[in-house]
Amino acid sequence: MAQPRDGAALRALLDAGGHGLIPRGLGRSYGDAAQCGGGTVVELPHLSRIRELDEDAGAIEVEAGASLDAVMRHTLGRGWFPPVTPGTRQVTIGGALAADVHGKNHHRDGSICRHVTELTLEAPGGTHVVAPDRDAELFWATAGGMGLTGVITRATLRLLPVETDQMVVDTDRFEDLDAVMAAMEEGDHRYRYSVAWVDCTAGGRRAGRAVLTRGDHARREDVPLRRGGRRPPGIQDGHLRVPEGLPAHLLNGLTIRAFNEAWYRRAPRRRHGELQPLGRFFHPLDGVADWNRLYGPRGFVQYQFAVGPAHGEVVRQAVDLLSARRLPSFLAVLKRFGPGDPGPLSFPMAGWTLALDLPVGPPTLPASLDELDGVVAAAGGRVYLAKDARLRPELLATMYPRLPELAAVRRRVDPAGMLRSDLSRRLGID
Ligand SMILES: Cc1cc2nc3c(=O)[nH]c(=O)nc-3n(C[C@H](O)[C@H](O)[C@H](O)COP(=O)(O)OP(=O)(O)OC[C@H]3O[C@@H](n4cnc5c(N)ncnc54)[C@H](O)[C@@H]3O)c2cc1C
Repeated sequence: MAQPRDGAALRALLDAGGHGLIPRGLGRSYGDAAQCGGGTVVELPHLSRIRELDEDAGAIEVEAGASLDAVMRHTLGRGWFPPVTPGTRQVTIGGALAADVHGKNHHRDGSICRHVTELTLEAPGGTHVVAPDRDAELFWATAGGMGLTGVITRATLRLLPVETDQMVVDTDRFEDLDAVMAAMEEGDHRYRYSVAWVDCTAGGRRAGRAVLTRGDHARREDVPLRRGGRRPPGIQDGHLRVPEGLPAHLLNGLTIRAFNEAWYRRAPRRRHGELQPLGRFFHPLDGVADWNRLYGPRGFVQYQFAVGPAHGEVVRQAVDLLSARRLPSFLAVLKRFGPGDPGPLSFPMAGWTLALDLPVGPPTLPASLDELDGVVAAAGGRVYLAKDARLRPELLATMYPRLPELAAVRRRVDPAGMLRSDLSRRLGID
């Protein structure tokens, strides 16, 4: 692991040759994308400043090691919000761009790189300042490129204007998967943000029952004045911590089924117009410190796939497969995607995406996920590399058919093939 002191030290690392190098942000990708066994993993604590916020234009110039949390805290009080936020704010700008992350607003706003107007990339061959209209090839190979074109050091992003730190949220409960998917198809366009939690643990007809949460930023007139006037806008999470020394596999089939049952029952059948703080709406897990410990020492597998709009049946197949094989998913999250970005490795594509958290342990899990990979690939879909640790390499080119474009750009900016990760080696991305 290297933490260069300054730009010259970073350049020296890139020029040094050796057994590969990959940048790392806050390590929130679930698999091996930010690891490089035998090589160098570069962190960027020296690049964590917010350089400039143009409050009139709503544009921010930020160093790539800064977290989305820091950006949000800097901009919210000034009436601006990141254009896209994943399910945690504890990611760096570099990591967010390298995975071209999506949020609950993908159906409306696309993923994050669509809102980037310029970025600086340090590659072994030199420094590149690129934009969607300046060396678009390198820009889009980097957007979603999982660090394989170089180290992003800074970026300029367009922000979203907001009037408050609250969300206006509509919650609806559905007894089956078809009903929630129909409601999303019919009504998502009326909301900026939409996400459905799906119960994959219930058996039979109830498999896929769901709670749909949709909302938008509250306007000033939506939020009643508190006594003492308005307080400064803030993010407001819960502050829970998972204690150490919990029994192994606290989250097992039984507890996960019980959690899903309680979650479903607790949700209102229909509650519209509820005010929720930003943190609770966007980043519920950020309020629970060390939530990953709940899974015990064996941990869990994140599995997320996307399929086109005509392949909603793959979502049904996945839910039925998990339910029938009694493979419990603690959280199953369904979203609709709008059109994807042009990056050859960018994950989102118009249609559906389902994300699953599956505790490691059941002997049928690996083969079941392999089977799902096949179903997803056959439907023209793909899995999310930022969450992958197990895809078979032979499926990669089917899921990401534009790999040769990425390879051509990489040969141009990194002729010696210095930029490598455990993920790129495992999947044979060259
Ligand atoms: C609770 C939780 C919820 C999540 N929800 C979502 C979600 O809703 N949507 C979504 O899209 N993702 C989601 N993710 C995944 C996460 O947003 C991505 O994995 C993101 O890339 C993590 O950023 P990071 O800074 O931790 O990067 P890391 O995990 O450290 O690295 C991720 C990738 O980015 C590359 N990278 C990091 N920094 C740079 C840089 N400066 N220059 C070039 N490449 C770089 C790395 O090489 C690696 O390939 C979630 C993750 C968690 C833990």
